[in-house]
Amino acid sequence: MGQSVVVVGAGPVGAVFALAAARRGFDVTLLEAEQAVEDAPRAATVHPSTLAMLGELGLMDDVVARGLVARYFDFWDRPERSLIARLDHNVLRDVTPYPFVVQIEQHKIVNMVLERLSGVDVRFGAAVTGVTQDADSATVHTSEGPVTADYVIGADGGRSTVRKALGIEFEGYTWPERFLVLTTLFDFQSELDCSYRNYWADPREWVNLFKVAGDDGKGRWRAVFPTTVGETDEEAVGDEGARARLSGLALSANPADQLVHRKLYNVHQRVAASFRSGRVFLAGDAAHVNNPIGGLGLNCGIHDAVELASSLHTFAATADENVLDRYDLRRRTVNIEFVQQQTVTNKRRLEEKDPVRRKERLAELAALGDHAELELKFLMNSSLLNSVARAASLG
Ligand SMILES: Cc1cc2nc3c(=O)[nH]c(=O)nc-3n(C[C@H](O)[C@H](O)[C@H](O)COP(=O)(O)OP(=O)(O)OC[C@H]3O[C@@H](n4cnc5c(N)ncnc54)[C@H](O)[C@@H]3O)c2cc1C
Repeated sequence: MGQSVVVVGAGPVGAVFALAAARRGFDVTLLEAEQAVEDAPRAATVHPSTLAMLGELGLMDDVVARGLVARYFDFWDRPERSLIARLDHNVLRDVTPYPFVVQIEQHKIVNMVLERLSGVDVRFGAAVTGVTQDADSATVHTSEGPVTADYVIGADGGRSTVRKALGIEFEGYTWPERFLVLTTLFDFQSELDCSYRNYWADPREWVNLFKVAGDDGKGRWRAVFPTTVGETDEEAVGDEGARARLSGLALSANPADQLVHRKLYNVHQRVAASFRSGRVFLAGDAAHVNNPIGGLGLNCGIHDAVELASSLHTFAATADENVLDRYDLRRRTVNIEFVQQQTVTNKRRLEEKDPVRRKERLAELAALGDHAELELKFLMNSSLLNSVARAASLG
């Protein structure tokens, strides 16, 4: 085919796109600003729809080997310390070969993809500073000089230089509170008899609690909390704050005694006004960001990457511009309809302060556990299986 593409950003989305495009015969250059793969605690949950895509790319055995298979997830009432519903992905068994999620840290996905990128020109320490294009090609500019290709993919994260260079609006808003991630070796499953993924509703302070394998495979738990408005960084990540937050989660000991990591994140709900400008495309966080409740952002980004590689391949064979516009139509629409919608609803559900409304929301969750058809409907959305079907129906 002889067509070339420059990918900006070796995060999980850029890396997966590079692999998918290389497998389709593109000549790929992957540029990463940092000197090494970022390993801060971010995405950990890979849903059934995304597992199918990673399976197509030959990654499934590695994903299972380096992650934790999680069939169930829980909703808890934190003030009552009671389980509201335990949802079972196995209700999806007739619609997907993967009726479970895999809890796997996103840097492991990047690393396993990089191990497979034969023939791709991967350059770390290559920060892109700008993008230009004409009718025949697109060029990224770096401190080492320009790199020109048929297409450029901006997979350079929420602060995307590529998106800014294109002058594309990042429409939406930023939440006033931030999210604090505390990682501990304390074994919550023994303490609470909980699943690997847990969402705790609390009008005072909700919590998300997840198990990941860790690089050593021994297991660790991440607890995600909202900060309070006006709380300083020092107060939020400091020892006293961490101890106070974690002490309420377990009764037998303070999980802060086994704290191994702490990090604060700003949280946004934003979608780029367009995912395409001529020969330049946006994917992943460069195109859309959302709060992490539900674990959807990276999953949607991997769906972008796979769709984009397929769209460019089809365009190379057909020269049909509609195929490229369809990428923007499909991916932007489903991000708004599924990812933005669900993550905002998830947050509202956990933080609900009005007692009447809270009771209703928790009753809705409890009903999921009691009615298989409601559980199936909920999981078809939360696993993004419906998003895949909706995208395919567009354009
Ligand atoms: C606490 C938390 C938990 C989360 N949990 C989940 C989850 O469970 N499931 C889920 O689906 N999502 C989750 N997410 C969201 C997920 O982390 C992001 O959606 C994901 O990182 C997006 O991947 P990306 O490759 O698009 O961007 P990034 O991971 O941000 O990667 C972008 C890459 O581009 C590089 N880069 C930036 N600028 C340049 C430049 N100018 N030149 C070259 N390279 C550049 C960066 O160094 C980086 O390596 C979570 C996020 C947070 C904060």
